[in-house]
Amino acid sequence: MEQTATMEITEQERKTFGDFNLRKELLKALDDRGFIEPTPVQVAVLGQDNLNADLIVRAKTGSGKTLAFLLPLMSDDQLDPTRPGVVVISPTRELALQISREAAWVSRGINCPCTSLVGGMDMSSQIRDLRRGVAFAIGTPGRILDHVRRGTLCMDSVHTVVLDEGDHMLDMGFRDELEGILDAASGRRRTWLFSATMPPAVRALSRKYLSDPRMISLVDEGAQHEDIIHTVYTTPKNRQMDGLVNVLLWENSSKGLVFCHTRAETIEVANRLTQERFSSCCLHGDMSQRERNHALSMFVSGRVSHLVATNVASRGLDIPEVEHVFQFGLPSDAETFIHRSGRTGRAGNEGRDILVLTMAEAYKLKGMLRNTNISLNWLPVPDSQAIRARQRARYEEKIFSVCSDGLCDTGEWAESLLERSDPVQLVTNLLRIAEKSIRSGYSLKADMEREREQSDSRRTKSVPERGGKRPMGRRNRGTLVRLAVKDAADWNAGKVLRTVCSALDVSSGDVAEIILGKDKVMVELLPKALEKYNRNPERLSGSALSRIASSGRRGGQARKDQARIRTA
Ligand code: ADP
Ligand code: MG
Repeated sequence: MEQTATMEITEQERKTFGDFNLRKELLKALDDRGFIEPTPVQVAVLGQDNLNADLIVRAKTGSGKTLAFLLPLMSDDQLDPTRPGVVVISPTRELALQISREAAWVSRGINCPCTSLVGGMDMSSQIRDLRRGVAFAIGTPGRILDHVRRGTLCMDSVHTVVLDEGDHMLDMGFRDELEGILDAASGRRRTWLFSATMPPAVRALSRKYLSDPRMISLVDEGAQHEDIIHTVYTTPKNRQMDGLVNVLLWENSSKGLVFCHTRAETIEVANRLTQERFSSCCLHGDMSQRERNHALSMFVSGRVSHLVATNVASRGLDIPEVEHVFQFGLPSDAETFIHRSGRTGRAGNEGRDILVLTMAEAYKLKGMLRNTNISLNWLPVPDSQAIRARQRARYEEKIFSVCSDGLCDTGEWAESLLERSDPVQLVTNLLRIAEKSIRSGYSLKADMEREREQSDSRRTKSVPERGGKRPMGRRNRGTLVRLAVKDAADWNAGKVLRTVCSALDVSSGDVAEIILGKDKVMVELLPKALEKYNRNPERLSGSALSRIASSGRRGGQARKDQARIRTA
């Protein structure tokens, strides 16, 4: 049946969990955990006047959908700890286990036994749980259906089915399993479907199995996740892996999720990262459940800093504090791009989404995201010289931030060394030793330039010149760099141009375009200026034009309130 009610949530007054009809034990668990304010999707679900209705909930990943369904279902008067009343179906084992963990802590104070019915794990312990009596069965489609067919999961008492990440379950080919479970839960009184997107397959499923659903939509089609900053690094064609290494060194992530296309590629990348002295492990579908849990826990606990995963691993996984998502190679579509990048910037934390692409892939990405308002920063892959400078700066920072606790005898050692040698020589020697552990990656500049020249000359040959002046392909040569300006009214294009040229020591011919906005300026730098800028982005800081720090929303194309001025 078609949806009848649509609710658009735009703004709401601040609510607390206490404003809703939740059991006090659940409120206590939330409070103990430090969760005070419900997220918008939680407000939207908890605020429903009829929680017995079918629901379709659209919200971006990381928005708190799990508690949005667990809290009202666990506060339900009909909760029976002896018979399964709620079945939650989730696309991957990791995600199902994650929901189970959330269910466990939030239901600590109430009698609400839950079991995880996921594939790849011991069947007999699941059967034991079910015999003992559970209120919630949380699992993956295949294993749940398996239990239904064996008769170990009795569906007669099931009053609620929750389909989590509906779009991905269908993407992953679980339609038959879902239909099997929904058909078996014929006595249910409500079905809640959570899905970030509503492709035709999801609509068809909802028409078949949901009745008169209320629609809660918190997604702005193609909207940018404000807390995520996307950066594309272009790398030479046959040196993508070297490019990835450079980017990892440059970004210096202590918790990064690296996405690859295939299982083989995850292994290859993880091996390479190990060789390059990054700690990493893989997560892909060919691994046993035990291996997957192990990899995940190594990453979550911080024992390895990089988890190299296929897309399957990206579905709904909530790994706390992922600073960086690295997408190695072009994502297959805009949705994959959004889902992968949604692994960072969770629950209000700021995150960085980094793409390492060839120039051809970067071009395709532009097309892929054309209909979204996601804005990307485009940069060539950092070169070894720039990385080295950055690593040195980090090392210096480390030296200056060491606080002496007065307990060790290092001070005395230093004094004794200084008595015996020239201070400059001594520091030089120490730095030489330290530099052995500083990694500066690969020199990719020459390859990058060669490729750029080739592509420029191809473009010049194929595109007739306009007015005998400049080839039309010119627009693609530069890279936009966003700069913050203090008093925008005091700036005009000429002043920006002069400032940039003098700070970077380039001529006006190296700056292609200047876009003046309200509080920022976007400057399109041609290769020479860009290279100088990348070598030391802080060069502009002293000039009242500062690099926009890693916060806030990035503007993409020039808007109406911006003025474009072509220079070169
Ligand atoms: P989604 O299913 O929408 O991708 P999750 O339910 O996995 O998102 O939630 C993402 C993270 O936010 C989890 O770590 C969860 O514990 C946390 N979270 C959920 N609700 C709140 C809240 N009200 N306050 C603070 N953190 C929350
Ligand atoms: Mg989720």
